[in-house]
Amino acid sequence: SGEPIDKGNEDSIKVVARFRPLNDSEERAGSKFIVTFPQNKDDQLVSIGGKVYQFDSILKPNVTQEKVYNTAAKDIVKDVLNGYNGTIFAYGQTSSGKTHTMEGVIGDPNLQGIIPRIISDIFNHIYNMEENLEFHIKVSYFEIYMDKIRDLLDVSKVNLAVHEDKNRVPFVKGATERFVSSPEEVFEVIELGKSNRHVAVTNMNEHSSRSHSVFLIQVKQENIESQKKLLGKLYLVDLAGSEKVSKTGAEGSVLDEAKNINKSLSALGNVISALADATKTHVPYRDSKLTRILQESLGGNARTTIVICCSPASFNEPETKSTLDFGKRAK
Ligand code: ADP
Ligand code: MG
Repeated sequence: SGEPIDKGNEDSIKVVARFRPLNDSEERAGSKFIVTFPQNKDDQLVSIGGKVYQFDSILKPNVTQEKVYNTAAKDIVKDVLNGYNGTIFAYGQTSSGKTHTMEGVIGDPNLQGIIPRIISDIFNHIYNMEENLEFHIKVSYFEIYMDKIRDLLDVSKVNLAVHEDKNRVPFVKGATERFVSSPEEVFEVIELGKSNRHVAVTNMNEHSSRSHSVFLIQVKQENIESQKKLLGKLYLVDLAGSEKVSKTGAEGSVLDEAKNINKSLSALGNVISALADATKTHVPYRDSKLTRILQESLGGNARTTIVICCSPASFNEPETKSTLDFGKRAK
């Protein structure tokens, strides 16, 4: 169409838009596939309701999980192994494919998502290392719900605080850190975290759509001869669902949750758009726990990918547009 193109970001924040296929219930309900992908050589365009958006990459419904990994994560993993920090987010409404993207089916070579692939890549890198390097990998896993940080590796820690270290870098004080020496060990830690998450709540699907889950991998390496040390931190974040709770339907605790999610997702959007805007000198990291924690891994020398996850169904058009607009803010 002849509509103006909204250009995506080309700098340190990469935005990838992933569209899942129509699902059975959408097909049954007669929902239509309303998204089109205008031909262009780099797969950067998507059109919805006459508006064309451009992002760093568009991942169409049929792409493999491997392609998603290569597009969204591979470069960041290389940087983390070189001592840089990074963050990968999945943003989108509930059931848009965030968890499928970040986690997928762990243990299934085709369907595993970004997190298990990152873990395999890191350990393969270490196993194939020829230089005299010593690696220490540790992982943490927590969730943020109603602006409270709950440790998913220790259920007794239900309200962890964010502190600053001596270099004024914020971190989650007291979060469990597990040293791991093989991919299998990491997968066990993830399973533990997930089962702890289940125990704490009655409806897991509802809960996971209202909380942010944060998986942190820290890669420390030391050259045994030169004693040179590098530390890279990688945050992998499956965000709370971005859908708006209808103003008439929600009340009480559901409304409080919705307001809280709105607030933390808009705090994230404000940070990302400030980072993308060269004229802005103030980045409002302090406006939410999530952005405070990520301060050192968002912007500056850190690498960030936002995977915006979208439904292609007519029924979800307003949410899909609002998700695409969120991605556009990172330009
Ligand atoms: P979210 O975490 O955003 O709520 P999920 O990742 O749980 O959404 O996805 C909802 C459902 O759709 C799941 O059953 C998931 O397996 C399926 N799904 C999501 N993305 C895809 C995809 N790209 N291809 C096939 N199935 C998908
Ligand atoms: Mg999910």
